[in-house]
Amino acid sequence: MTGTARIYFDNAATTPLDPRVRAAMHPYLDGAFGNPSSLHYDGRAARDAVEQARVSTAALCGAKASEVVFTAGGTEADNLAILGVVRAFRGQSVHVITSSIEHPAVREVCRELAAEGVAVTFLRVGTSGIIEPDELAQAIRPKTRIVSVMAANNIVGTLQPVRELARIARGQGVLFHTDAVQAAGRIPLDIHRDGIDLLSISGHKLYGPKGVGALIVREGVTLSPLVFGGGQEGGLRSGTENVAAIVGLGEAARISIESRGEETARLVRLRERVIDGVLAQNLDAYLIGDRYRRLPGHVCLAFAGLEGESIKLLLALDEAGVSVSTGSACSTNKAGEPSYVLMAMGMDAFRSRGSLRITLGRFNTEEDVERFLDLLPRVVGELSPITSRGRAKTGACA
Ligand code: PLP
Repeated sequence: MTGTARIYFDNAATTPLDPRVRAAMHPYLDGAFGNPSSLHYDGRAARDAVEQARVSTAALCGAKASEVVFTAGGTEADNLAILGVVRAFRGQSVHVITSSIEHPAVREVCRELAAEGVAVTFLRVGTSGIIEPDELAQAIRPKTRIVSVMAANNIVGTLQPVRELARIARGQGVLFHTDAVQAAGRIPLDIHRDGIDLLSISGHKLYGPKGVGALIVREGVTLSPLVFGGGQEGGLRSGTENVAAIVGLGEAARISIESRGEETARLVRLRERVIDGVLAQNLDAYLIGDRYRRLPGHVCLAFAGLEGESIKLLLALDEAGVSVSTGSACSTNKAGEPSYVLMAMGMDAFRSRGSLRITLGRFNTEEDVERFLDLLPRVVGELSPITSRGRAKTGACA
């Protein structure tokens, strides 16, 4: 492609660094280099910055600053939540409940625990990608210690009934963790209102830097650390704090809170334009997941008969200047293999091989959406000759 700017529609994979976040981080990569544990002026300046970021990060989900544990990203926060709870019950038999559509940062931890002999239940989801709260109620056993269900799915974008699930778990004295890596900053969250005990956040999904995140640990919840050392972060995450990245996460959280109302409405408008525009194009496209119970900027589509070609479609769009993702291109899913998320939603192996994930973000415009809609029919058409289009659909998932 020449001349025109590329279109970045992969904001669920990562978001660009907001220039305001970069500006806030800059001093801590430069003159303000102190170690927050040092007692002198330079150390105190770094400590103040970390504590200010803690206040902003807490506000993202209605937590207190003292409930924030900074980590090196969403994966580490998820690991700390689940392993931290299981290890706190050392020597006792423990049952863990999660869903069948979690990100590998939760799924692989649960699979590892299962391999170590811990009882783990993977809850089913319906064809729209949403857990039926009754399924959770029935799965809880006397030894269940933690339920981990994501707030929003990273492939399909569907939102889980987190408040209802948390109510059921806590009603039985079971801790409730939610991986809010995709949800935080995009939908309102409040750990106290929603009854959440543990909540994971990642900086780079929020227009902040990569390699930083947080686990929100509600006051009174006991966790065992996974990293041992100098006792930073209340002993839950030893290691000298990544001050610049933490400051970036705090500023990213502040901006998200400030702009959320308007930004949500704008992204929903753009999302609906993408969905309506693609469905009107006679390309045999179908939407995956519930139409409305989804993240504001998240679209997950497939083209009937072309599911196995999703990687080619991604590459053709890439060539045309648009960055998107497929439902199977996760690091643990080899390209072209069926997606466990789509399989869990009841799609057959063929249809689970491909979806197109279009995720809109802060820096996307209406013009991006219209350009995408203009070029999509040509790109899809080149993959599938006109004569083969119009095949009967194999049943919509929405
Ligand atoms: N959880 C979800 C739902 C995600 O989408 C991701 C990243 O894609 C993660 C966890 C992992 O976060 P990080 O990349 O910060 O380790």
